[in-house]
Amino acid sequence: MTRTIKPLVAGNWKMNGLKADLAIAAEVAKGIDAGLRQAVDLAICPPATLLFTLTAALIGSRIATGGQDCSAHASGAYTGEVSAPMLVDAGATYAIVGHSERRTLHGESNGQVKAKAEAALAAGLTPIVCVGETREEREAGKALAIVKKQLRGSVPDGASAASLVVAYEPVWAIGTGLTPTAADVAEMHEAIRAELGRILGKANAAGVRLLYGGSVKPSNAAELMNVANVDGALVGGASLKAEDFLAIARACA
Ligand code: PEP
Repeated sequence: MTRTIKPLVAGNWKMNGLKADLAIAAEVAKGIDAGLRQAVDLAICPPATLLFTLTAALIGSRIATGGQDCSAHASGAYTGEVSAPMLVDAGATYAIVGHSERRTLHGESNGQVKAKAEAALAAGLTPIVCVGETREEREAGKALAIVKKQLRGSVPDGASAASLVVAYEPVWAIGTGLTPTAADVAEMHEAIRAELGRILGKANAAGVRLLYGGSVKPSNAAELMNVANVDGALVGGASLKAEDFLAIARACA
């Protein structure tokens, strides 16, 4: 944790969630007390089809919402894409960009991720820029170099501490039940903070929220959230269970 930064716990529902699953968010909202609300910011990033309804359902809960991706373009002939202004129109505060599933399954490059992050910023959203190495890259001792390169290529120009979130998500930890050691997370988050200092200037970098993501669950959240420079979590699978998501948020607080 960074003492001066209010942590953020964001749920990434991925391609899960029908109308009936709005009940999960309602249960999360019901489980937040004043202490938790004061200590931690919460966000849920549902599929685009649920964003408007979910945001409306969460009014008054102080749980923010976000998109899981956004187009680099504001509007036009881009069939199937969702733009940042559309996410804002639906009530979103955040947009995840550069998730490893987008980078891997859709071949998104650092340049494309940066363009998406800049589109999010231009629309008034806070991009959550995801970075992380593969298992092969870690085993080859290249994890730090890969993540720094991703940061240099993906962080949007003009971002400030208040307008940017970075999520370190080792690809091999996503959805696998595996997590890096606390020492590895500490080393990586310190390196990310330092690299952001070179990109955005030290003062901005000091305030950027650095989330850890990859198999965060109630049983490992406290240990991971206690690591220096970890300012919250990006949670996939466990965000679909209200109790687990709340437990992770409490571990952050
Ligand atoms: C994710 O998809 O961003 C993620 C962290 O997934 P999980 O928590 O399921 O590993």
